[in-house]
Amino acid sequence: MISVEEARERILSYVDLLPQNEVPVLDALGQVLAEDIYSDFDIPPLDNTSMDGYAVRAEDTEGASLQSPVELRVIGEVAAGYEFEGRLEKGAAIRIMTGAPIPPGADAIVPFEETDEPFSRAPERVRKLDLATVRVYKQAAPGANIRRAGEDIKSGQPVLAQGRTLRPSEIAVLASLGKPAVRVIRRPIVAVLSTGDELVSLGSVRSPAKIFDSNAYGLAALIKKYGGVPKMLGIARDTVEALTAKIHEGLDADMLITSAGVSKGDYDVVKDVLAREGEIAFWTVAMKPGKPLAFGCFYDNKRRVPHIGLPGNPVSSMVAFELFGRPAIMKMMGKTDFRRPVVRAILEDRVANRNERRVFYARCIVTERGERYYASLTGPQGSGILTSMALANGLAIVPEEVDVLEPGEEIDVMMLDWSQGEEWGSRR
Ligand code: AMP
Ligand code: MG
Repeated sequence: MISVEEARERILSYVDLLPQNEVPVLDALGQVLAEDIYSDFDIPPLDNTSMDGYAVRAEDTEGASLQSPVELRVIGEVAAGYEFEGRLEKGAAIRIMTGAPIPPGADAIVPFEETDEPFSRAPERVRKLDLATVRVYKQAAPGANIRRAGEDIKSGQPVLAQGRTLRPSEIAVLASLGKPAVRVIRRPIVAVLSTGDELVSLGSVRSPAKIFDSNAYGLAALIKKYGGVPKMLGIARDTVEALTAKIHEGLDADMLITSAGVSKGDYDVVKDVLAREGEIAFWTVAMKPGKPLAFGCFYDNKRRVPHIGLPGNPVSSMVAFELFGRPAIMKMMGKTDFRRPVVRAILEDRVANRNERRVFYARCIVTERGERYYASLTGPQGSGILTSMALANGLAIVPEEVDVLEPGEEIDVMMLDWSQGEEWGSRR
């Protein structure tokens, strides 16, 4: 028996970083940047106003107050996206909208709120603009309400470094630099194969002894969630020929994930085929669910295609994927931190892990109440109870040396996602 950590280390040692490609910036969400990004212009490009109001010379507003407003001539207007043609002279003001460049000669913006033009009257004001004057009720400091050119990003400055994982905010920054495409580490194509005579594919007619192939969908969804591209190979019957043919279909992928056929059943031809077509090792991993695991490599010419053979039980396959498939995908994509958020929660149910000497990953619902996390079990924990995964937002980790934990005791929970609370509870 090997530990979860050891199984993961062994798997990762056979998984390589993928090459780079260039993709449209929006498609790069979640991928790792493969180039250093610099800006070749200032952002914002020009000094501009952060408020709707009037561009003025600060010194013209000296001493302005509610009692003694300063009256300025309004000589024009400038909206965001346009440069004012001309210059602001002494005693004048230019009506200006948020984001518009500061007209030459102006050095402060007086917001509408500090003038006799409440914002609600703006349309009327525009109409009689050429005649208008504006009263300023408050002295403006030089530079007031002006956003400086380059205050966000300076021309020539490094903005995003290679290795950075692109989140929505990085995508937005790339767009602000005008980049339609970006170099990233390519997404892995992960072939997904289900094995078993009992399986039927979605859309086909099911006879009573058959079950729909759910593993392929759960696993493909996880592959997508973690940034990979699933390649659905469908179902291989429990025959050498069927399995061999399907495996060959999957060899152009970057990784192959199979489910079922790795335990000690009579019809488990998977092992034989895997051993013949590539290198394969069968491990007993000290975990529950998901104890039997196969790992090996196929070769597509010289290219190594790692293969993770997950157990067949639906919960086991998904939990084992979370522990082994996810880091493999992340490593291929250039990510280096495979940790996931773990919270310390107070158990609300009793959990037993007697005589197992295996880490038990209990499906649980974590809720946050009064600054504490609480974990309650999703119900029966059998590895065939797929809805226990659908109810869970976390996996409570019961260490191998622990026999039983009582309600009120603390436990580490590996969070699968952060959805929780009222709405979550009511779905039980
Ligand atoms: P095996 O590993 O082949 O012994 O399968 C273990 C259990 O998982 C059996 O009850 C199978 O019917 C079930 N199983 C295997 N593959 C799938 C699948 N693709 N979808 C749903 N259940 C499966
Ligand atoms: Mg089977």
